Amino acid sequence: MSSQGPRPRRRMLTLTVRHRERISPHFVSLTLGGDDFRHLEQAGYDQAGRLFIPGPGQEEIVLPSSEKWMLWYTLQASAKRPRVRTYTIRRFRPDASAIDVEVAVHREASDRPAPPGATWALTAKPGDKVGFLDEGHHYRPTPGAGRQLLVGDESALPAILAILERCTDALPAQVFLEVPTDQDVRPEIIAPTTAEIHWLPRNDPAMKPGTLALRAVREAHLPDGPFYTWTAGESSLATGIRRHLLGERSTPRSDITFRGYWKHGRAGL
Ligand SMILES: Cc1cc2nc3c(=O)[nH]c(=O)nc-3n(C[C@H](O)[C@H](O)[C@H](O)COP(=O)(O)OP(=O)(O)OC[C@H]3O[C@@H](n4cnc5c(N)ncnc54)[C@H](O)[C@@H]3O)c2cc1C
Repeated sequence: MSSQGPRPRRRMLTLTVRHRERISPHFVSLTLGGDDFRHLEQAGYDQAGRLFIPGPGQEEIVLPSSEKWMLWYTLQASAKRPRVRTYTIRRFRPDASAIDVEVAVHREASDRPAPPGATWALTAKPGDKVGFLDEGHHYRPTPGAGRQLLVGDESALPAILAILERCTDALPAQVFLEVPTDQDVRPEIIAPTTAEIHWLPRNDPAMKPGTLALRAVREAHLPDGPFYTWTAGESSLATGIRRHLLGERSTPRSDITFRGYWKHGRAGL
């Protein structure tokens, strides 16, 4: 019999916006805090959660409980239900009972609906209420891996930075980070001294996100020994990296964590 008890049920946390800051042309950082922070299990790395935010024209947000929230959501009229998007916990601020998220802001053509996540990040005000439902983390280096490869576009930048902050020199990392422009490159990051960081600014609004990172990894010199890979971002980036590693680098399937964070041309839930 396991000595550990059942995992505590995750709860829908009610948090309020404390601070919002444009940290670069395509990134907004938001601090979300409140008493419910105490119910959040702090795993770190790429820990992410569903953020419940107001829909268009909604002054007040109505939050479901964590139980069967998806069913609740589908039963609500669109005008009444919040919008739900997934974001990484970029930083825990236990002293302030708060977390930071960093949202990559992007535009849609004027004939398409405004993206709720990016729009919220650009307009949220201190005091606005949101819901947060923890989804845990997926970063789990394979035992025995001597190195790691981290690859992502702007949607995965918060996760990769959070991962690097928790890593030690013992697991040297090759990191490929694609961002929209030169001005979105972070001049100072906290990372082990053994990490080799490659910033890949697109500087071309017409280029599909993920293109540069996929190309860079295909052309990169990767270590021979066992290494762990974590890749996330636009769906074809994550699946493309995985396919490349399996097919051309003979990487074992079990050494790769890949996650499609969004799909080009398709809105999230
Ligand atoms: C586990 C996980 C963690 C994530 N963490 C973060 C995070 O920390 N920060 C973050 O910014 N995103 C993160 N994402 C991705 C984010 O949830 C999606 O990008 C989401 O679709 C954005 O919602 P939206 O309302 O702005 O756009 P949507 O309404 O979902 O999409 C509208 C249009 O914009 C396009 N689009 C969506 N996202 C982007 C983008 N990033 N760049 C360019 N075009 C886009 C869509 O293809 C669609 O055409 C994460 C996703 C997952 C699954």
